[in-house]
Amino acid sequence: MSVQGMDIAVIGGGVGGLCAALCFARRGASVRVYERAAELSEVGAGIQVSANGMRVLHALGLTEQAQHFGFESKGLTLNAVTGRRVAILPNGPTRETRLFHRADMITLLSDACAEAGVEVLLGENISPENRLSSDLIVAADGVKSAFRPWVTGDERAAQFTGQVAWRALVPTPEPITEGGVNLYMGPGRHVVVYPLRAGRLLNIVAVEETRTWNDEGWHNAASPTDLSARFDVFGGAVARLLPHVTDVFRWGLFGHRVPQSWVRENVVLLGDSAHAMLPFLAQGAVMAIEDAWVLAQFVDNHPGTAGLVGYEAVRKERVARVMKEAAANAHRFHIHNPVAARAAQMVLGLGGRLAPGVFHRRYSWLYDHDVTAQASSST
Ligand SMILES: Cc1cc2nc3c(=O)[nH]c(=O)nc-3n(C[C@H](O)[C@H](O)[C@H](O)COP(=O)(O)OP(=O)(O)OC[C@H]3O[C@@H](n4cnc5c(N)ncnc54)[C@H](O)[C@@H]3O)c2cc1C
Repeated sequence: MSVQGMDIAVIGGGVGGLCAALCFARRGASVRVYERAAELSEVGAGIQVSANGMRVLHALGLTEQAQHFGFESKGLTLNAVTGRRVAILPNGPTRETRLFHRADMITLLSDACAEAGVEVLLGENISPENRLSSDLIVAADGVKSAFRPWVTGDERAAQFTGQVAWRALVPTPEPITEGGVNLYMGPGRHVVVYPLRAGRLLNIVAVEETRTWNDEGWHNAASPTDLSARFDVFGGAVARLLPHVTDVFRWGLFGHRVPQSWVRENVVLLGDSAHAMLPFLAQGAVMAIEDAWVLAQFVDNHPGTAGLVGYEAVRKERVARVMKEAAANAHRFHIHNPVAARAAQMVLGLGGRLAPGVFHRRYSWLYDHDVTAQASSST
């Protein structure tokens, strides 16, 4: 069996849906993307794509576009609440990580889809009730997925995680030519800052623990003054940067457990519809990109539901591990007790200086994984 000539419907034109559409189209399927919004768009914010996701973009022939749009990150620097540097975790030559404006990532993928003959239909709100007659339906309809309850049998809505993210973009006075991701750890909160768009913008994500999310929507415009007040415990670069924020949005972070089943009949979940997670490892979209490659490869190599079930088995295990690690970072980044925080940072700092290879190896399972190199007989 191959996907050649198959008729595939992808629900959702986010990173996961567009990447899946492209992976299937490149293997010869006839693909339509159904997006309920009137245009393909993304929030004004950044997205980190680590090496495990970059390998998929390269395998899809998007190297030039990724280099054009993505700022190459040198690594992750962990900082204390005062702004003092604690540890540097370089990406090194084998872990290419790029920092994109989300709108650029959508442009990159949708242009490639158009070239590969994918049809994108806008203003199309698809539900399990008005399902399409395609051979395969890929439900990449995000954390609030309409297909997830139908596929999994679990009617529960996504749960508020007790974390809220403030997102803002700030122009830089001079383009930054070299840099990476800076993470500032504070009590019950952290701030992530990185350059975008040839270093002309800085992306800020400020996360805080909070008990409730009372607002109607999932995100809302917020006040820069409130942002500064909520994060005034931070010194150094964060304290200097926050007064320059003019527009900021506040997001409630929601997630689910990884479901038992990702497949029902000819419908399969992909991306946040299957595994919305805390963004503290910057892997939600990267996992959707990996999903897309693995799903297309499994369906191409295995007839009928065997391909879908194989995809589910392989992805469930990996994604569950990533979600666990992302949740653990909430504790690592947000230590409330100042003495415990200083002790943990001392260990991190010493480890970074004396045995930098330990950090590198600790995340080998995540960043050195190459879904595009898996033998096609096993996927
Ligand atoms: C603060 C924050 C920072 C993050 N940073 C990173 C990061 O640095 N790196 C990373 O990898 N991940 C990051 N993530 C996670 C990442 O944003 C998500 O995992 C990713 O965008 C999910 O993509 P998706 O395509 O699965 O879903 P979505 O992007 O939500 O796309 C779903 C699409 O489906 C459409 N849709 C929904 N329902 C229907 C329907 N019924 N019919 C038709 N269309 C429909 C929606 O309009 C939408 O366009 C972050 C998340 C947050 C909140």
